[in-house]
Amino acid sequence: MIIQRPKGTQDIIGKTALKWQYLENEIRKICSEYGYQEIRTPIFEATELFQRGVGETTDIVNKEMYTFLDKGQRSITLRPEGTASVCRAYVENKLYAQAQPLKLYYLGPMFRYENTQAGRFRQFHQFGAEVLGGEDPLVDAEVIHLIWEFFQRLGLKGLEVHLNSVGCPNCRSEHRIQLQNYLQRRKADLCEDCQTRFERNPMRILDCKNKRCQSLTSGVPTTLDTLCNDCQEHFSQLQSYLKIVGIQYKINPKLVRGLDYYQRTAFEVLAEGIGAQNAICGGGRYDGLVKEIGGPPTPGIGFAMGMERLLAVLDMQKVEIDLETEEKVLIAALGDKARQEGFKLSGELRRNGIPVLMDLLGRGLKNQMKYADREGVRYVLIIGDEELAKDIIIVRDMKLGDQKEVPKETIKQYLLQNINNI
Ligand code: ATP
Ligand code: MG
Repeated sequence: MIIQRPKGTQDIIGKTALKWQYLENEIRKICSEYGYQEIRTPIFEATELFQRGVGETTDIVNKEMYTFLDKGQRSITLRPEGTASVCRAYVENKLYAQAQPLKLYYLGPMFRYENTQAGRFRQFHQFGAEVLGGEDPLVDAEVIHLIWEFFQRLGLKGLEVHLNSVGCPNCRSEHRIQLQNYLQRRKADLCEDCQTRFERNPMRILDCKNKRCQSLTSGVPTTLDTLCNDCQEHFSQLQSYLKIVGIQYKINPKLVRGLDYYQRTAFEVLAEGIGAQNAICGGGRYDGLVKEIGGPPTPGIGFAMGMERLLAVLDMQKVEIDLETEEKVLIAALGDKARQEGFKLSGELRRNGIPVLMDLLGRGLKNQMKYADREGVRYVLIIGDEELAKDIIIVRDMKLGDQKEVPKETIKQYLLQNINNI
């Protein structure tokens, strides 16, 4: 029987892999322009990190983690998200001793045991960024600016930025009381998950996907109704910064995000047309997290963007990606001596940045030409006994369909002048 890849995973191949490379390059470019350094944390961590850092009441920790005991009986979890690891690394490596705020980004696979469907995988990839050690609303504005600018550069249209403030522990306790009072009578009608949330994390009822819960909470007190003065001020300053740079956003008082440690700013970017899984990016402020996992009290804010969903939007909007496929050369060597010469030449050309293929299967000339065609080769260099004797190489231009003889010692210059030039 053929072994298949596990459910919810993908093989990224061919042109799709080139698209990923393109996106990764764009990500690295923009992060460096905004002053972010890359951080690479382990793919697996102690389970406790996510229990504490993501929160016991979240779907991620309750239902979605890949957790196992290793051979030393340690409970290990494949990372379901990046923020907890970044904060752990911040504390463990004493990064708080460096100049603040510290701006870090990451790019890589995440793992969640989910019901798979379009846009929802078990291994998926996130680009995320975190700013630690800054609580000014300008930090929040700059983070959202990076995301906005990134989407503009990619040429995406019609994306919606949803924005909210979920307040701080002080104003949230007031909100909790008001919300529970409001929902008390309707509690029995809530979905099973929300009945649990009612006690453990009632704010999360606001963003339940269940239609019935949504209608029950249509007139509910939101966190915006109970913001304290400081949170109010922070939120309004953030909005003025966004307006100054022309970022359009919608206030969405029901946007609370799935994670316990969020405070104040919460945001999400939605794209129409890619199906039910339309959130490409989510983020917010998590001023309580670093302390929660044993570090000094440190404000933080960040976001994570789903790469698969981003690609789905690019495809759906038919955004042309410049895949920069360089013109390639095939060395068609005929005979043993020619293969030796060709092999030597291939190394020299590659050293000069010219992409070179060689026939590695001992094909005849006709089949080598077919191979060149299938590989989209621009120039075929034909070397046979006759060419060897005359110290020349026949260069066949597959695009123009002509060919000429080039002296062997000038072949490198010839290609360097002509490649990607016509
Ligand atoms: P959702 O409501 O879609 O489950 P989430 O709130 O769980 O999203 P986050 O934890 O905020 O998502 O992750 C940030 C981004 O990562 C999401 O906006 C989405 O683009 C992407 N993402 C999350 N889970 C998956 C998944 N299982 N497959 C693909 N992308 C995902
Ligand atoms: Mg989710």
